[in-house]
Amino acid sequence: MKRTSRDIRTANRYEVLRQIIAESPTSRQELAAATGLSLATVATLVGELLDLRMITEVGFEDSAGGRPRGLVAVNASGGALIGVDIAETYVHVELFDLALNVLARADEHMRPGESLPEQVVAHVAAAVGSVVAQAGIEGARVLGVGVSVPGQVDRATGISEYAPNWDWHDVPLLDLLTEHIAYPLYLDNPLRAVAVAELWFGAARGRGDAVVVNLGTGVGAGLLLGGGLHRGVSNSAGEWGHTTIVLDGRLCHCGNHGCVETYVGAPGIMLNLRELSPDSALLHPEDQTATVDALARGVRERDPVALKVVRDTARYLGAGIADLVNLFNPEVVVLSSWVAAALGEPLVAEVREAVARHALPRPMAATEIVLSAIPTDPACLGAATFALEGALQSVGQRSAKRATRSRSRTAPSS
Ligand SMILES: [Zn+2]
Repeated sequence: MKRTSRDIRTANRYEVLRQIIAESPTSRQELAAATGLSLATVATLVGELLDLRMITEVGFEDSAGGRPRGLVAVNASGGALIGVDIAETYVHVELFDLALNVLARADEHMRPGESLPEQVVAHVAAAVGSVVAQAGIEGARVLGVGVSVPGQVDRATGISEYAPNWDWHDVPLLDLLTEHIAYPLYLDNPLRAVAVAELWFGAARGRGDAVVVNLGTGVGAGLLLGGGLHRGVSNSAGEWGHTTIVLDGRLCHCGNHGCVETYVGAPGIMLNLRELSPDSALLHPEDQTATVDALARGVRERDPVALKVVRDTARYLGAGIADLVNLFNPEVVVLSSWVAAALGEPLVAEVREAVARHALPRPMAATEIVLSAIPTDPACLGAATFALEGALQSVGQRSAKRATRSRSRTAPSS
């Protein structure tokens, strides 16, 4: 797809706001140095963000003998963003201020089998209502709601095309949500939400090429290439969880055999445990979260079965991640989502060794493999970031119209 000058302007606007959120307060000169944009471009973009009240002027700093430099900072109370993480077993919702601090949280538990679109939508609506009430803010301040939903999503139409774990086909999710939620809605899938969270706030910030491996019930890889999110032609890039790692291997929800997900997703890890030790006390047959937590505890206590299960899982994961390293030559591979968070550094250490056995030495030497350091739910944070990007984009379209009407605005000189 051809990048238009408007796309570039939008990307530059994200970049400047991302930098201000990360380093408030800051000056236009520092922003130009950090982003590589010209001072004039930065000044124009800062002017737009000031007009939107997303940032504010916060005084001056002395610059060695020269004119004092104006400082800007993110206007945390200038608006609110909501991130929704719909997973197979829960709906988690967080409400953020514009500095992306969490102001309120709500959780809805989904019982096994509770997977009809109407049931899921009711949980989302309840949790969104709850965070707005808890935060005590006016609805008008909510700039948007980003929704992360598993499976293949058409962002433009808001249709959940295929969610294998629920057997959803072409569910008009955005329309269903709009019946209950009055704010602007932005739909995408967790691979992309988690990747964008790392790009804005995590280990991928300032890195050109990064892969964010999402390890939950489902598995996939968010691809950040050339400093931006890589979506592919139909928004389904990164379905690495459904690449084959064992020919004629375990049956997957997607209908194929031997997918990566069937060995390293939470149900796959449970099966790794069951095959090794069918009667293990670590196994909670109906509860993925309890089993993964029990394994994490077992590893801390040096339980031999737990250690073996984590090592076996890391062998599959390592071979699969080595493919990603060889294909994309990334600067960093980030392990994210709840399974990675629960199993933590012991898993990452095993994965590093396993990747090193399978990847080519040259790309391997250039790659760092780390655990996500994002302290909150990364899918919620990423979904909220989609809402922030959506708000910035719609503003960009409005200001482009305004600029064609009157070209009176000039960039402040400094
Ligand atoms: Zn599959």
